[in-house]
Amino acid sequence: MKHALIVGAGPAGLMAAETLSAAGLRVTLCDALPSAGRKFLMAGKSGLNLTMDEPLAQFLTNYRESTDWLSPFVEEFDASAVRDWAQGLDQEIFTGSTGRVFPRAMKASPLLRAWLARLAANGVLLRTRMRWQGWDDNGNALFDTPSGSESVTADVTVLALGGNSWSKLGADGRWAAILERRGVQTAPFAPSNAGLAVDWTDHMRGHFGAALKSVRWSAGAQTSRGEAVLSARGLEGGGIYTLSPALRQGAALRIDLVPDLTPEQLTGPKAPARGRTLSHWMKSTLRLSPVKAALVFEMAGGQRADPQNWASLIKELPVRHNGFLPADEAISTVGGVSRAAVTGDLMLSAVPGVFCAGEMLDWDAPTGGYLITACLATGRHAGLGALRYLAAAA
Ligand SMILES: Cc1cc2nc3c(=O)[nH]c(=O)nc-3n(C[C@H](O)[C@H](O)[C@H](O)COP(=O)(O)OP(=O)(O)OC[C@H]3O[C@@H](n4cnc5c(N)ncnc54)[C@H](O)[C@@H]3O)c2cc1C
Repeated sequence: MKHALIVGAGPAGLMAAETLSAAGLRVTLCDALPSAGRKFLMAGKSGLNLTMDEPLAQFLTNYRESTDWLSPFVEEFDASAVRDWAQGLDQEIFTGSTGRVFPRAMKASPLLRAWLARLAANGVLLRTRMRWQGWDDNGNALFDTPSGSESVTADVTVLALGGNSWSKLGADGRWAAILERRGVQTAPFAPSNAGLAVDWTDHMRGHFGAALKSVRWSAGAQTSRGEAVLSARGLEGGGIYTLSPALRQGAALRIDLVPDLTPEQLTGPKAPARGRTLSHWMKSTLRLSPVKAALVFEMAGGQRADPQNWASLIKELPVRHNGFLPADEAISTVGGVSRAAVTGDLMLSAVPGVFCAGEMLDWDAPTGGYLITACLATGRHAGLGALRYLAAAA
C-alpha cells in the first residue's frame, strides 16, 4: 500500500489527509504541536466563518490577483461543497444575513473533533510533536521529535504548514527557509486581514470598544462598508481588514462617516446652520454617533476650524495610523510558496512528489470564509494531485 505523509494538521492538511485516505492510501499526518488544528480552533473563537453563500463568480473575485490560480481548486470544492462537508460531519450549518456560513455551534471544536474521529476511522495516523525540518541525505522527510531526529519514508508528501501569524498556534513560517534552500521560490510574508496601530490621544479613551458602523472606508482604489472597533492600540475589524492589500502598498486610509449622504446634501439641506459649531452640526443635524464625532476631532486637526472644510472632512476624513499591528496578530498572511514554484497540481517543481496546500501558498483573501474555503480546496487538490502523480509513476 502506498504511503502518504501529510505535514501540518490545520484545515488544509486535514483535507489532504481525508482525500488520500479515502483513496485507500496509508496516511500519516504529522504536526509540530501537541494537538491538531490549533489555529482552526482559534478561528472559531469569534464564530467559525466557514464559507460565503454567494454566486461562484463573485466568490472567486475575493482571491484578488490569485483568482485565476485558485479558481480551478475552489470550483471543485466551492461554498456548497464546504457546507455539505461540514454537514457530513454532523454539524448543523446556518447562513447569516450577510451570507456568511457558520456551524450552528459557532465554534470549531465539535467540527474538529468529528473530523479527527472520521480520519482516525479511515486509518489516518496522527503523530504530534513532530517538527518537520526538511529532508535527510536519502531524501526522506526529517523530523525533530521528543526522542530525537526521525526520518519518515513516504511515496508522496503534502506540506500544509500554514502562513506566518499566531506562531504559538503553529504557523511560524520557519519552513520557508527550508524550502528556499531546496530551490523553492517564496515571497516574503506580510500581514493580511490585520488591525492598524493608532496613537490615540487621551480624548479617545472613552470610546475604546465602540464600533464605527455605517461608514465607508477607502484606501487607494479599495473601499469597504464594514465596521471597525476602536481599541487602546488602534483599529480592528472587517472594515479595515479587507483593505489590507492597499494599506500594504502604503495607500492613505480615509473614512466617509455619512456614506448615504451626498456632498450636495451636506452643503445643501444638511448644511451647518450659520454660527453653529462643528460639534452641534455633527450631533444635531447629522446625528453622528459619539465615536464618529470624536474621530473627527481626533483626526481633523486645524482643518476643523473652517466650516468650509466640514463637509469634506465628514466625507473623506483622513485616518492617521502607524501601520499594521504586529504581524503575528494578523488573521492571515500573504507570502510563502510562489505560484511559479508549483505545478497545476500544487506539486513543488523543485521537489517532485512533494505538494503544498493552504495558507503556506502565496495567495490572499479577505475574511468571510474565503480563507478556510481555499485551505480546504487546495488541501483537496494537493491530495488529488498526489494521487495523479502516483498513478502516472505506476
Ligand atoms: C483569530 C483568527 C480568526 C480566524 N477566523 C477565520 C474565519 O472565521 N474564517 C476563515 O475562513 N478563516 C479564519 N481564520 C484564518 C484560518 O484560521 C487560516 O487561514 C487557516 O487555519 C489556515 O489553514 P492551514 O491549514 O493552511 O494552516 P494552519 O491552520 O496554520 O495549520 C498549519 C499547521 O502546520 C503545523 N506546522 C507548521 N510548521 C510545522 C513544521 N515545521 N512541522 C510540523 N508541523 C508544522 C502547525 O502546527 C499547524 O498545525 C482566522 C484566523 C485567526 C488567527
